[in-house]
Amino acid sequence: MKNILFAFTLHAALMTCLCPVFAQTAEQNTYARYMKTGSEQMKTGDYQAARASFEQALRYNDSAFDVHLGLGVAYFNLQDDKYAERELSKAAEINPKTAAAYQYLGELYYRKDDLETAAMYWEKAVALNPSATDIRARLDRIRREHKTEMNFNRDVSSHFLVKFEGREQIEAGRIISRILEDAYGELGRALSYYPDKEIQVILYSGQQFQEVTDAPGWSGGIYDGKIRIPIGGIEQETPGLRKLLYHEYTHAVVRAIAPRCPTWLNEGLAST
Ligand SMILES: [Zn+2]
Repeated sequence: MKNILFAFTLHAALMTCLCPVFAQTAEQNTYARYMKTGSEQMKTGDYQAARASFEQALRYNDSAFDVHLGLGVAYFNLQDDKYAERELSKAAEINPKTAAAYQYLGELYYRKDDLETAAMYWEKAVALNPSATDIRARLDRIRREHKTEMNFNRDVSSHFLVKFEGREQIEAGRIISRILEDAYGELGRALSYYPDKEIQVILYSGQQFQEVTDAPGWSGGIYDGKIRIPIGGIEQETPGLRKLLYHEYTHAVVRAIAPRCPTWLNEGLAST
C-alpha cells in the first residue's frame, strides 16, 4: 500500500513538475523530425523541400548550428546567395569551430568570383579541419587561378562574363560572347529554360589552362561552375569553336536545371 501511494505521489509530482520538460521534449522531437526530413530531402537533391523542412525546424529551435547550416546549404543549392550567406554566417557565428559553414561560405564567394574572400573562408575551414584535403586542393587551385587572372580583361554581354588576358584577345572575347549568346537563345528556346545568373567564361593560353585546371592537354574546354577554354589566337569564328562553346554552355544549363545530374549524363546531354 505504501508503495502504491509512493508511486502515485511520484507520478503526481512528475505530472506537475515535469510538464514544462515534457513540452520541451515534444518541441525537440518535432525539431529533430524536421531536421531528419530536411537532411533526407537534401540527399535526394530536393532543395526546395529541404528548405521548407529546415524553415519548419527553425520555428522550434533557432539557436542550433545544424538548422542554420542546413538552411544555408539548401539556399546555396537553390542559388539564393543572399539568404545562403545569412544562414551560413549565422551557423558560423553559433559554432565558429566547425569547418562546414566556412566551406560553403567559400563556395558562395567562389561562385560570385570573389576569389579573395573565398580563399579567406577556405583557409579557416582548412585550419579547423586539416584533414580536408579536398578544400586544401581547391584553395591551392584558387591561388593559381587568382594569380593567373589578376590582370585579365572582362567583356560583359547580357548573360556572360568573359575574362581574358591582353588587349589582343579583345576580339576573341567578343567572338566568344556572341557565340554564347546564340547558344543562350537557341538552347533557351529548345528547353524553355534561360539561366538567370550570369555565367563566367575564362579564356586561357594553353599553358595557363593546364596550370589552372589540371585538365589533360587535349581537353578542348571544361565546365566546373565556370566555362574554361584554352584559346590560341582566335581570330574568327570556326565550326569547331561554335561546337565547343555550345557543348560547354550545355553543361552550364544542365547544372543549373539539375544541380545533382551525374557527370556521365551531363556529358551525354552536352554531346547531343
Ligand atoms: Zn563536356
